[in-house]
Amino acid sequence: MSRLVVLGGGESGVGAAVLAKVKGFDVFLSDSGTISEGYAEELRRWDIPFEQGGHTEELILSADEVVKSPGIPGNVPMVRKLEAQGTHIVSEIEFAGRYDTAKKICITGSNGKTTTTSLIYYLLRNAGLNVGLGGNIGKSYAYQVATEHFDYYVLEISSFQLDNCYEFHPDIAIITNITPDHLDRYDYQMENYVKSKFRITRNLSPEDCFIFDSDDEITIDHLNKIIISAKKLPFTQKETDLQQGAFLKDEQIVVRYEEEECNVYLKELALGGRHNIYNSMAAALAAKASGIDNKVIRESLATFKPVEHRLEPVLSIKDVLYINDSKATNVDAAWYALECQKRPVVWIVGGKDKGNDYEVLKPLVRQKVKAIVCLGVDNTKIREAFESIVGKDRFVETRSAEDAVKESSRFASPGDVVLLSPCCASFDLFHNMEERGERFKEAVRRL
Ligand code: ADP
Repeated sequence: MSRLVVLGGGESGVGAAVLAKVKGFDVFLSDSGTISEGYAEELRRWDIPFEQGGHTEELILSADEVVKSPGIPGNVPMVRKLEAQGTHIVSEIEFAGRYDTAKKICITGSNGKTTTTSLIYYLLRNAGLNVGLGGNIGKSYAYQVATEHFDYYVLEISSFQLDNCYEFHPDIAIITNITPDHLDRYDYQMENYVKSKFRITRNLSPEDCFIFDSDDEITIDHLNKIIISAKKLPFTQKETDLQQGAFLKDEQIVVRYEEEECNVYLKELALGGRHNIYNSMAAALAAKASGIDNKVIRESLATFKPVEHRLEPVLSIKDVLYINDSKATNVDAAWYALECQKRPVVWIVGGKDKGNDYEVLKPLVRQKVKAIVCLGVDNTKIREAFESIVGKDRFVETRSAEDAVKESSRFASPGDVVLLSPCCASFDLFHNMEERGERFKEAVRRL
């Protein structure tokens, strides 16, 4: 019996272990930290042996193959040892892909993955297809392959998940855009991060589709250096005509795929902001390439509800609209959030800085932001970048969502927006970006 060891006992690791069990492997799961009770219970339920709080070398080095969870960096000692002895290490996505014959639409990129993935899932569901949603969202892909049967999967895939993919073969691959993020995991080399994203295209064949943002220079530069045999379907807001792909014309999105064309009025899109025009274009192209009717595409793009924590309107109090964009953990995401605001903004920003360069935000802050409320432990870089723009008396620092909301409400007048779009990770004050968003929403509701 082949021995499969899974490193990491979170959503993807437990999913991979369950799938391995179902497929008859001798499975073992090991986590150097603690496994949450829910996952431990799941492993017991499937009768899968596991350990936590450390790795027992002999139980791991005896593996025929290892599934590594995406949260574990490639340079930790256990991974190094496995590599040194030549053990094949794959990601959960690679492993699950071997047992799945469904058509796969796979989405990666720096920003917009979750929104685009959810939109495509919504479109396919509305078209009546039997479709699963997974990857970085919800239940892991492997768990679903083990326990469900779908004809289609829409999968959000992070670059960490792509790093250990080799044979994984999407039918439609999407790169939403590429901007600097997570560079700490890529030796601070942008090139490595770009290559990691492009791994999603490596097994595409001529009948598959590759959907990408042709306004994104980093994507185009890399695309010019490689050969991709799939049908290329760019989306753009700069060009006004394309033979194949999506572009803007007369206030409409025009989608062209093979002989077909689908038009959607911008004013009918459910999601606001320029970034969401890109996301809607990518989703509409994927839907067209999956043979979905124009009517379903139009109706779906018009009725989709924003995903939680992504420019999510919370409440309007005394004509001040509070918006939760806790998921904006990098500069590019915050740029789009500020860019699409039509009303004066009180901006809640800060957290764990991932090496941000705030320069690109300065013009928008000058134009739209009337006050800044920091929500973070160390706000030095934000102060240096923006205090002189908004003025000393309109720049405050806070350390809780409650205080941030209170301070913001002081600055805001009727007609303004209070926007939580932090530009930073949440780990200095919160467990994760979801908790930050929840605390913010609670504080708003208590105002
Ligand atoms: P991801 O899953 O890639 O992190 P999300 O859809 O969760 O992407 O959005 C993350 C953040 O980026 C949100 O603040 C959202 O408003 C913003 N965003 C969404 N789509 C785009 C895009 N195409 N370009 C830039 N920012 C975007």
